[in-house]
Amino acid sequence: MPNYAIGIDLGGTKILTGLVNKGSGEVLFSIKQKTGKEKDAESIVEKIKLSVNELLDNSHFDIAQIDSIGIGAPGQVDRDRGILISAPNLNCENLNLKAIFEREFYVPVFLGNDVEIATLGEMKFGAGKGCNDFVCIFVGTGIGSGIVQNGHVRSGATGTAGEIGHIIVDAGGRPCGCGSNGCLEAYASRSAIEARIMGALKKGRASVITEYMRDDKAISSKMIRKSLEHKDELITQILFEASDYLSNGLATIINFYNPELIVLGGGLIEAVDEFYERTITKAKTKALPVPASKIKFKKAKLGDFSGVVGACFLEEVQKEKNTSKILQD
Ligand SMILES: [Zn+2]
Repeated sequence: MPNYAIGIDLGGTKILTGLVNKGSGEVLFSIKQKTGKEKDAESIVEKIKLSVNELLDNSHFDIAQIDSIGIGAPGQVDRDRGILISAPNLNCENLNLKAIFEREFYVPVFLGNDVEIATLGEMKFGAGKGCNDFVCIFVGTGIGSGIVQNGHVRSGATGTAGEIGHIIVDAGGRPCGCGSNGCLEAYASRSAIEARIMGALKKGRASVITEYMRDDKAISSKMIRKSLEHKDELITQILFEASDYLSNGLATIINFYNPELIVLGGGLIEAVDEFYERTITKAKTKALPVPASKIKFKKAKLGDFSGVVGACFLEEVQKEKNTSKILQD
């Protein structure tokens, strides 16, 4: 009998919910909801409830067939108690998601961090399958990473390991959302790249990208790819600059952690091959020769679903943690 779980990837802009066959990693059904502009704890909880109910309705599954619900949230989490401590992007603080949803659905609920679940997904069924020591780096609104050590995602002393987005690549440089200056994500995240493009366009720089943009002025990874294919000067300059900074960050990880493999994910990495290839080539030349000689790079394999799949394995992670605690006591 296959085991099924529901994985929820709670993001700053969307909530992706999926029904997953844990044996194969297949996402049988999924629902995507926008979090909307007016975000608060109540509306987030309501949207998750709706998503889970709709998912069960659409799939004709009964909640009794579900082993667990796993949620990955963008922020700091208390994994043992299932509390979302703080998620500035969602306007949520001290939200006991475990208690709320266990009361609602009568199944065990587990909470993790958004990058952690994406890393777990890639480890179980994606680009990291079969590799015990690797680092997953996701370039999105920010830049986050998950560290897999001996087949386990390392959470660190305070549960915040892997904050690669805040390694400083330019002392005293651009301000970062964390309050510091010169952090990697202020240069190479999707949002940083978008801000650079919008800023340059506002100043009157010409670019072919304006031909692809719609009224909402949103910039997609596809638009960036098409502009690069057209050898657009502005987009090439901005992307290459971001790629230089990102390769600095990667070289640091190669030297410091000496992983076998780095898995890179996120919309821009997936869609823009030139950005990916250029970044990994530069990273290898910048890193020390010995750790660089063994490093492999792969693109994340599960795309949007790495988090949803990984969230279904938070139960396993928590159980292992509890067992090791008992053994230590
Ligand atoms: Zn920062």
